[in-house]
Amino acid sequence: MITLTGQQLIAGVPSGAGQNGSIAGINPRTKAPTGYYAQEATAAQIDAAVRAASEAFSETRGYRAVRLAGFLDTVAAEIEALGEQLLHVADEETGLGLPRLTGERGRTTGQLRQFAALLREGSYVEAIIDRALPDRQPAPRPDIRRMLQPIGPVAVFSASNFPFAFAVAGGDTASAFAAGCPVVVKGHPSHPATSELFGRAVSAAVAREGFPAGFFSLIQGREIATGQALVIHPGIQAVGFTGSIRAGRAIYDAAAARPTPIPVYAEMGRVNPMVILPGALAARGTAVADGLVHSVTLGSGQFCTNPGLVFVIDGPQTQAFIAAVTDRMGEAQSGTLLNEYIEEGLGRAVERTIAEANVRSLTGARALEGTAYCYANTVLQTDSASFRANPQLQEEHFGPVTLFVVSTGEDDLLDTLHVLVGNLTATIHAEAAEEQAAAAIISVLREKVGRIIWNGFPTGVEVVYAMQHGGPYPATTAPATTSVGKTAIKRFLRPVAYQDLPDALLPPALQRANPLGIWRIVDDEWTKGSEEA
Ligand code: NAP
Repeated sequence: MITLTGQQLIAGVPSGAGQNGSIAGINPRTKAPTGYYAQEATAAQIDAAVRAASEAFSETRGYRAVRLAGFLDTVAAEIEALGEQLLHVADEETGLGLPRLTGERGRTTGQLRQFAALLREGSYVEAIIDRALPDRQPAPRPDIRRMLQPIGPVAVFSASNFPFAFAVAGGDTASAFAAGCPVVVKGHPSHPATSELFGRAVSAAVAREGFPAGFFSLIQGREIATGQALVIHPGIQAVGFTGSIRAGRAIYDAAAARPTPIPVYAEMGRVNPMVILPGALAARGTAVADGLVHSVTLGSGQFCTNPGLVFVIDGPQTQAFIAAVTDRMGEAQSGTLLNEYIEEGLGRAVERTIAEANVRSLTGARALEGTAYCYANTVLQTDSASFRANPQLQEEHFGPVTLFVVSTGEDDLLDTLHVLVGNLTATIHAEAAEEQAAAAIISVLREKVGRIIWNGFPTGVEVVYAMQHGGPYPATTAPATTSVGKTAIKRFLRPVAYQDLPDALLPPALQRANPLGIWRIVDDEWTKGSEEA
């Protein structure tokens, strides 16, 4: 058992008084204090963490990929060594339940190990080589060799809704570490003790692997100034963030206003439109209703891929389908929300939507009295013309809420989809006979989202190489990137081209013998071979 102190972990060293702090954990099932605390990081502690990260980077930027891979495996092992304490503390702080948290732990260690495998294979550095053409006319061509290299110290903001997989040792941290970048994490104030346990596990891995201590620090805070101080510190070179548009945008703006602006990879969730065509409703309306209700209520709706908007075309089955979803939502158990701010924010967001013209509440739309933070499963309905006229109806309701948008026909549906802003996902339910209509819908939606799902549901993001978890603003601030899957590493890598350097001064990935045996593009051809062969 690890003794929790609520201190910052600056370059592996607990910092601060080590007594009760101002960030008190609250059990969302009981609204009672958990007894866990963290202290607010001071400006001096943030400065020390970033300085240590910069110092560490001067060493780790030269590390071989296999060394970084070994470190990632050790982080995964240290997380597993936290054992039951991690699950029970996190359950107390988040109310997410042991089965969900056990699964999320596996996902978190799994993504660390996936990055380790990527590093061992080695081709992620995207080596591209255009060899010299000394006889080219009218002028010789120089030798140009390009590859990806780590960007520098990264600030990571933990999310509240994924206390493991998008938090202290979650996807942003794993991909930054994999890139060779030191990380300073700001833990989420909703689960201070869970953050500390992860912080201690990562610090132990840093020590075991003999990495410089500044490769990882954890700071905690609930004041906006704490996160801002981290973002504007000149030593930080990039930011990973998962959370609200309000916070993500504030961080993005602060990063852009620095004397030296830096990239911010903010994933800010969205409403994830789902289109259900009449053939699908007729053929399998009951199954789609069941699946939709499951997806909207999963994790109490606190997923960035929650299907918050459902587009249907008015017709004989449509009202029956909406009624079936409404009944099922009313009957389904309402889950615990993560904290009082999410409950309050959800209440305000639903109130704002209901106050708009031509929006009807079909069920729910109220916080539930009781011991836990809880909001009734909610179904809202509007018409397509009102939706097109009112951007407010695209606002996220972060919880078990979905809004039906009823169109008058296929053309009206397409017109309505055109007004959508950026989202993470879009889903289409259709039958084979509707493929032509679906193709037109897909051609609109693919401009709006990062992932299109056919006859499925958007929650449950697979952690695979091909995954794209991102999308145009306001889903993210960086639509060309993903925060899930192995290509997430690219956010923390920066291309460098070397012109006419002697072999001995080149990184191994670009040397003529290809000593790492990686895939490279040499004079426009993919090859794993040596140039000397
Ligand atoms: P949040 O408000 O976005 O906060 C996330 C982190 O950013 C916290 O550490 C927060 O610290 C910090 N922060 C907030 N405002 C900041 C600012 N102006 N400058 C610097 N840092 C700032 O997220 P949350 O507390 O988890 O939940 C609130 C809402 O976020 C939800 O209702 C939901 O809409 C959204 N959310 C979205 C996702 C997603 O998947 N994209 C996940 C979780 C939540 P402080 O606590 O100190 O403010």
